[in-house]
Amino acid sequence: MTVAARAARVQARLKGVEALLVSDLTNIRWLTGFTGSNGWVVLYEDGLTLITDGRYGVQAEQQLAAAGVDAEVRVGATGADTLAHIAASCAGHARVGFESVHVSVHQHEMYAAAISNELVPLVGVVEAERRTKDQAEVNAMSRACAIADQALAEVAPSLSDGLTEAQVRNRLELRMRELGATGPSYDTIVATGPRNAALPHHRPTDTVIEHGHTVIIDVGALVDGYHSDMTRTFVAGSPSSQQQDLYHLVLRAQMAGVAAVRPGLAVKDLDGVCRNIIAEAGYGDWFTHGTGHGVGLLIHEDPFVNRAGEAILQVGDVVTVEPGIYREGFGGIRVEDLVVVTSDGCRVLTSSPKDSPCPPSPPTI
Ligand code: ZN
Ligand code: ZN
Repeated sequence: MTVAARAARVQARLKGVEALLVSDLTNIRWLTGFTGSNGWVVLYEDGLTLITDGRYGVQAEQQLAAAGVDAEVRVGATGADTLAHIAASCAGHARVGFESVHVSVHQHEMYAAAISNELVPLVGVVEAERRTKDQAEVNAMSRACAIADQALAEVAPSLSDGLTEAQVRNRLELRMRELGATGPSYDTIVATGPRNAALPHHRPTDTVIEHGHTVIIDVGALVDGYHSDMTRTFVAGSPSSQQQDLYHLVLRAQMAGVAAVRPGLAVKDLDGVCRNIIAEAGYGDWFTHGTGHGVGLLIHEDPFVNRAGEAILQVGDVVTVEPGIYREGFGGIRVEDLVVVTSDGCRVLTSSPKDSPCPPSPPTI
């Protein structure tokens, strides 16, 4: 499966419209390989047109050719000219869908003034196909996972050395770049102690990692535009019995979640697998977020795995499984892996150790 094959998947999904005006840049990148900061795609039954401005004309031609996408590229000299190209590309299609989630009221007013066709608001048309990853996408995310695994393996032994959260973050992000990542997948989380680790999305500070404190590290790499996502929890020094018990509770919930992943499973049921184990142990109130989310060109994308989710897992979904528990005064524990859904279950893309001990030191709890 290549980039060029993706447009056909979306074209087959167009119902009640003859064309789709794609304005979301992530969707445009997925459809064409184009990474510029200004662009539109008009997708119709038998092809597509990419419209951009003068900064990106050459880049667009090169990136579409590299991706094997056979499409016309139109370059607008001014904003009005670009809009005229969009309108001309829509001409001849009676009903044109647009991505209502990604279009502001102002943009819609501009489209409506320039485009004489009927504009039909649509939600999630490209995203519905984009969530199913092809082999090239899974390969990029596997490489991103391997880089984060390697960086964490190299940095984890220094967690007992009196470093600050920010210093650990810096070492991880530098190593990921040296290992070939474009950069971190997101702002790396290093959260320690009874207060910081109690915040699921804490931003690293100058807090020193102290013996006896939990350290949550949530780290991913970016490779060819694709993200990875993984969390491990450590204790600097020797864990207390409470830390041991709660770590094994979270780990048991996380492993049960990974074991449950298969096509046909409702995301709310996957969430339930993890949540019920933690709730039955009496810590349901400490599990304050959803179980996971899709990952791809965005770090958070469909399908979202939580109690309210309506999605059903499909082959090719790449999702996280990341239960956690948090309480001010205790800190927090989260374990997160990235998995790709396969015909008979899933394949785990992240491979950092989760069990005790995690050599060389310090151990995961
Ligand atoms: Zn994460
Ligand atoms: Zn995540």
